[in-house]
Amino acid sequence: MDGQRGVVSGARSRPTIEGAGVRLRRAFGYHDVPRFDPFLMLDDFHSENPDDYMAGFPWHPHRGIETVTYMLGGRVEHGDSLGNSGVIGPGDLQWMTAGSGIIHQEMPQRTEGRLAGFQLWVNLPARQKMINPRYRDVKAADPPVVRLRGGATVKVIAGEVEGARGPVRDIMVEPQYLDVTVPAGKGFEHAIARGHTAFAFVVEGEGRFAPDAKAPVGPEHVLLFGDGDGVSIRALDAPLRFLLVSGKPLGEPVAWGGPIVMNTQEELDLAFEEYGNGTFLKQKK
Ligand code: FE
Repeated sequence: MDGQRGVVSGARSRPTIEGAGVRLRRAFGYHDVPRFDPFLMLDDFHSENPDDYMAGFPWHPHRGIETVTYMLGGRVEHGDSLGNSGVIGPGDLQWMTAGSGIIHQEMPQRTEGRLAGFQLWVNLPARQKMINPRYRDVKAADPPVVRLRGGATVKVIAGEVEGARGPVRDIMVEPQYLDVTVPAGKGFEHAIARGHTAFAFVVEGEGRFAPDAKAPVGPEHVLLFGDGDGVSIRALDAPLRFLLVSGKPLGEPVAWGGPIVMNTQEELDLAFEEYGNGTFLKQKK
């Protein structure tokens, strides 16, 4: 493949406290705008200690973004202002488009062993920030799993790998969301549309994320790729698992206030005013 993407930055996620006191790690967020455009934030939570996560994320609003929750272990119960409720378990994913507004809660359940998962925030283009909220629930068994000749196994949540299309479709930024496992010593190559932003987050093992990468990178690290036609990644002496996410940048102004992300300060002020006076929700039950 020509035009392999290089790695322009690699950093370890940082400990952060969110919600009502959940201890998690942030791979990128508010201070990284606009480098990951159209992605705003990636939180990585993994712990064997319920004290780290039981406080959860009680009722809070979102507007102007999509939140994508992907569980690797344990369960999160959710409920929202539209009357939806359910539990996201190991391997499940929820792609929530907040659009004009939703008020929800996300409460981790006490787990024997490890609670682990990710939340990614995807920005919405200006013309779609006020669309009706919607959900896509993806069960663990839904995404196709593709075994590549080189040895890698890819769970396709969004995007396409060798003709297998992920169940999450019709998203504004044309995202690709892959959960990739590469056996020890093997490689993985994958095309990514030129001009799209792409990053990887290492779940386990160590890898070289570009042909010219100087040092291997391990768990809790996020790698932002430069532009090019695709990525070429190699596992070292243990299996390597990582998320590979890409999407079309929006190139629009970002006005970000906590759980609400709009284009202007006026829109942000209006959102909080509406939340305060009870007119935030535009779509009724
Ligand atoms: Fe939320």
